[in-house]
Amino acid sequence: MYFHDAETLERNELEKLQVERLKKTIEQAANSPYYSEVFKKNNIDPSIIKSADDIKKLPFTSKDDLRSQYPYGLLTKPIDEFVRLHASSGTTGTPTAVFYTQKDLDTWADLMARSMYAVGLRRSDVLQNMSGYGLFTGGLGIHYGSERLGCLTVPAGAGNTKRQIKLIRDFNVTAMHIIPSFALYFAAKVREEGFDPADMPWRIALIGAEPHTEHTRRKIEEMMHIKAYNSYGLSEMNGPGVAFECTEQDGMHVWEDSYIAEIIDPETGEHVAEGEIGELVMTTLTREGMPIIRYRTRDLTRFLPGECKCGRTSRRIDRIMGRADDMLILKGVNIYPMQIEKIIMGIPEVGHNYVIELFKEGLMDQIRVKVEIKEEFFVEDMRALQGIQKKISSMLRDEILITPRVELVQHNSIPKTEGKAKRVVDLRDEED
Ligand code: AMP
Ligand code: ZN
Repeated sequence: MYFHDAETLERNELEKLQVERLKKTIEQAANSPYYSEVFKKNNIDPSIIKSADDIKKLPFTSKDDLRSQYPYGLLTKPIDEFVRLHASSGTTGTPTAVFYTQKDLDTWADLMARSMYAVGLRRSDVLQNMSGYGLFTGGLGIHYGSERLGCLTVPAGAGNTKRQIKLIRDFNVTAMHIIPSFALYFAAKVREEGFDPADMPWRIALIGAEPHTEHTRRKIEEMMHIKAYNSYGLSEMNGPGVAFECTEQDGMHVWEDSYIAEIIDPETGEHVAEGEIGELVMTTLTREGMPIIRYRTRDLTRFLPGECKCGRTSRRIDRIMGRADDMLILKGVNIYPMQIEKIIMGIPEVGHNYVIELFKEGLMDQIRVKVEIKEEFFVEDMRALQGIQKKISSMLRDEILITPRVELVQHNSIPKTEGKAKRVVDLRDEED
């Protein structure tokens, strides 16, 4: 292990460390304009924390709280002390900005290096970072982690498939960081360019930044002849390196010496019963410049029971099942986009690019799933196409309990994004 002692601490030792660091975090946070006011209002100081469970006494911090404090309200130090900023990829409204001191960047690079080590990366590996750089943390976050581990790091950035392939071949790239929706596209592209993925030098892919199913992971592994590992993080908690799979591929270890993870019922704010699905709430324990307490991530997951075979003692979370905000309620039924993805990935006649559209028909909300038909199945015969459509529609019905429209569209006709895929489009407010 990269940090053997920290990663294998006995649970009670780990909890002691969390309590100590949580107290320190409260002390530090009190230096920011935002938390100093929140703490005063709620009579909070480090002495109220006696056990890890006492975190429940602290108020939540929401994305709106961060927005209301944009840009500097959570900083605990004068701006001169900071050396970097990132912003979250939110597409609407004021973004949230996250600031790092040099020490914060070092801590983050260590967390990333540890994560990469856990999936088998070593200093002899060559890592190509295929995610966008810029404000998105998946660029520089992965980059500095990879350098920290000692890997030769290729900052390829997003897009430009041909150049990506050339770099991979020329520099003997053994590991890639790639967004899952792009990985599916990339794998097909590699073949189109006349290369056999089995002959490529790669062996490990770090995939994350957006929800994806187990099926998608397996598909990426099969298509690319690679091992793909789930990487979870969010800018508010530094970026990637918050929770990461190990080589067991059985849930993501939360690095609990740096973060406290809780899972709550998004309606009541109470902890859910052990193993139940709820909203992940995260607290930083090792960030000095901009500590964040009980951040409502809106991401849905659950704690996995038992210990991991790898010997790490930190708890594991299941893959993210979607965002609390992404849940669609249609005709009274709750639907998560990942349920739809799960079905689509299992249908041989269609590709991996899809979009879910919500629209109004009269007064009724309707759902339409557009998916690309594979070239080899594109037939002029309407009956055959209708047959495929019907099959998909009924499989989706079995999963989501309502019957969606299914529209088969031509190969490559749904636009691909370079960053996180946008899978749900809401057309309900549009006039027709
Ligand atoms: P950002 O801070 O803009 O990079 O976005 C962070 C968000 O991306 C998280 O809150 C999740 O919703 C999503 N995300 C990141 N990593 C994963 C992952 N491995 N699986 C599912 N969703 C992820
Ligand atoms: Zn493990």
